[in-house]
Amino acid sequence: MSLAVIDIDNTLWQFCDAFSRELRKINPAFPPVEGWTTWNFFEGFCTEAEFMGAVDAVHRHQDSDEYQPYPEAKGFLRALKDQGYRVVIASHRRQEMLGPTERWLMKHELPYDELHLSFDKTVLFEDAAVVVDDAPHTLEKAVACKAIGAGLLFPWNKAYAGNGFGLFGNLNEVMEYIRERS
Ligand SMILES: [Mg+2]
Repeated sequence: MSLAVIDIDNTLWQFCDAFSRELRKINPAFPPVEGWTTWNFFEGFCTEAEFMGAVDAVHRHQDSDEYQPYPEAKGFLRALKDQGYRVVIASHRRQEMLGPTERWLMKHELPYDELHLSFDKTVLFEDAAVVVDDAPHTLEKAVACKAIGAGLLFPWNKAYAGNGFGLFGNLNEVMEYIRERS
């Protein structure tokens, strides 16, 4: 069975908006999401520990009613499963976030076969046929492992468009890209 590795943050929901609100609690001068064009955009605004703390603050409340998946997310995962993919949802987050993450997936009826929480999802890529993620270095690794790589287009991955993976405006377009290539 073909494996599809699907990210959560900025793939199944707009993590960056919630994260931006957390960062502005630390420092109101944080640039808006449109200005997040590099991976170290936080430097000069907060420490790395504060940055990671803001990530955790969002993940800890993943199942809050405020944090809604994209409207296309459920249909996207369903379509992958209907095409015979084994769907592994893989998120860069602490193992202790398992509870809120599982509750969020359940609450929004997002179908999947396995949930992988770690700080290195690339261990899954050797066997992956499809990888959907917004992180350019993750997608580059996926493509190097001969997987179809695709994700949603954001300020932080825009400069990497054309590096062998597809970046799109919504998950329906991502699905079309996967269909064309599989
Ligand atoms: Mg992500």
